[in-house]
Amino acid sequence: MNYFLGTFFGVGLIIAPFYGTWVVAISIGGLSLLAYYTARYILYESDLYQYVLSAVLGVFMAQFIYQMHGLFEMHFVAFIASAILITYQNWKLQIPLLIVVAIHHALFGYLQFVGFDKVYFTRLEYMDIQTFVIHVLLAAVIFFICGLWAYQFKKYSEGHIQHSYEVARLQEIEAQKETLFKANMELDKFVYSVSHDLRAPLTSMGGIIELTMRRSQDEMVIKHMEMLQKSAKKLDGFILDILDYSRNARTEIKKESIDFKEVVDEIVSNLKYMSITKEVDIKVNIKQVVNFTSDPTRLSIVLNNLISNAIRYQDKEACPPFVHIDIVCSAEEAQIKVTDNGIGISNEYHDKIFDMFYRVSSGSVGSGLGLYIVKEAIDKMDGQLTVESAVGKGSSFFISIPNKFKTNQN
Ligand code: ADP
Repeated sequence: MNYFLGTFFGVGLIIAPFYGTWVVAISIGGLSLLAYYTARYILYESDLYQYVLSAVLGVFMAQFIYQMHGLFEMHFVAFIASAILITYQNWKLQIPLLIVVAIHHALFGYLQFVGFDKVYFTRLEYMDIQTFVIHVLLAAVIFFICGLWAYQFKKYSEGHIQHSYEVARLQEIEAQKETLFKANMELDKFVYSVSHDLRAPLTSMGGIIELTMRRSQDEMVIKHMEMLQKSAKKLDGFILDILDYSRNARTEIKKESIDFKEVVDEIVSNLKYMSITKEVDIKVNIKQVVNFTSDPTRLSIVLNNLISNAIRYQDKEACPPFVHIDIVCSAEEAQIKVTDNGIGISNEYHDKIFDMFYRVSSGSVGSGLGLYIVKEAIDKMDGQLTVESAVGKGSSFFISIPNKFKTNQN
């Protein structure tokens, strides 16, 4: 804008020799510049100085018309001013210019036509009403178009800024997500190696306890060793849960062929070492005639947790305690049901039992991690999990896991 105003002042000086209007060029042009720069200095924190600029541009137009004794082309300066104001993207800036132009045209036009010979508006001898109306209409169209463009530009740039802001925000979120993901991976790796390393001394401790119990005749020692063994087993169970959690969080989903009978038999035979298992009647019913593909590690984690829970939370009063494992495998999915006639879970806890570290009662034997891991693993396998259970009647956990066999073939 400084360049434009400098040029306007310069134009005033260039055309001054034509009719000897040096005083007007310097005084009106200088005052206009002074008005603009003073307003800009005082109102630099707001946009109000731009309205002064708009009026100043109108005054320059009047000055040039006067200096050129009503040369018709000088009226176009108003259109140039109107176009320049578009850069501020504020349609209202057209208003002061419009007012100055209207007042100037009306006043100077009137004065010239009543014969006041010191004022110049046009070189025409007589301006008829038709010429005047066309003149006004064209000016109105120009001001309207420039105002509209200013408005549209503002809308467009606001949209553009909003879009850029959104893009920057998304990029920031993406970067944060990546950092968090990396930190999470590091943490999972750390948890995995710490848990893994903790098991070695625990296993040696178990061996020493076993040995001491076998060699000692002292009942008190044996009793203490049994207590120690129970705590060591609990700690080992907790570490195993953490390892499962970490395995599920860290590892990519695998797609391998699953033989459900093999998987379940292995889990059940491992669980046979739990003394409590001996009292439970475990029935396995598997119908698998199609190839089933899924993640074997996660599937084992899920089944192991559900079956061991079904055994551990048996009802001492129930006679005889049982666990039924039913699996029906189709080309679409595997439907798994693990049912027991154990202590059951009250309705109000059905959602909570899948939370991390949630245990229905402080008497619960585990860490409260098992069902959380089950839910997470099933989510990763795109499966579904529901529970039906009532206190004193037992529990049934239903799972459906999609068969990825078809996806694998594609
Ligand atoms: P925990 O390691 O304590 O067993 P889980 O996450 O596996 O933790 O289970 C959460 C809670 O849900 C358990 O503390 C227990 O109270 C209850 N629960 C889980 N399975 C059964 C079941 N089959 N019968 C009765 N209660 C169960």
